[in-house]
Amino acid sequence: MYLKKIEIQGFKSFADKTEIEFTEDITAIVGPNGSGKSNIADAIKWVLGEQSVKSLRGNKMEDVIFSGTDKRRAVGFSEVAITFDNNDGVIPIDYSEVEVTRRMFRSGESEYYINKNSCRLKDIRELFMDTGVGKDGYSIVGQGKIDEILSNRPEDRRGVFEEAAGIVKYKTKKEESERRLEKTENNLVRIKDLLHEIS
Ligand code: ATP
Repeated sequence: MYLKKIEIQGFKSFADKTEIEFTEDITAIVGPNGSGKSNIADAIKWVLGEQSVKSLRGNKMEDVIFSGTDKRRAVGFSEVAITFDNNDGVIPIDYSEVEVTRRMFRSGESEYYINKNSCRLKDIRELFMDTGVGKDGYSIVGQGKIDEILSNRPEDRRGVFEEAAGIVKYKTKKEESERRLEKTENNLVRIKDLLHEIS
């Protein structure tokens, strides 16, 4: 699996539709300070469902939408699409190419798509779990990230290893099942009480 392409429109400093293609080799993006290099990494995190404004270096989610310049009016929505080559099947879906799209309007409402089919954020999270690419993946190492990992609480640091070991998916499913089990147990208690009352 590797990142093949990113298309950005209306996201942060990218007012016009911008397409960047990557090969399997190393690609370096260079440019003067403030030219938008980090905005590209932000776009990748955002399309994969990043909900933390702080992590996207903003104050509010609307800050990811192009806010205009002296020469250019602001735009109404932001859209990012990233395409992965999935010939090795690392992403658990039956497609050799996987495109994830997120669109967000000024109202704050976000739409998500996998290969142009509308989906929930949860579907994207699940698809990329344990691939290292998701929201909590280790494939985006931003400025200060290494320091953050080293100074983290041991439990948080363990999360990085769990993602690399590929067990996050199972841990999440286990937690979901435990929550459902607890709900069912509570319902059972209620039913027993009701039965007791009517008998
Ligand atoms: P450095 O090399 O200093 O780290 P960089 O190339 O990584 O810089 P970025 O941080 O990606 O630069 O981009 C910052 C630029 O993006 C700033 O000029 C800022 O005004 C612009 N920018 C950020 N959000 C928006 C927005 N919503 N609308 C318009 N421009 C924006």
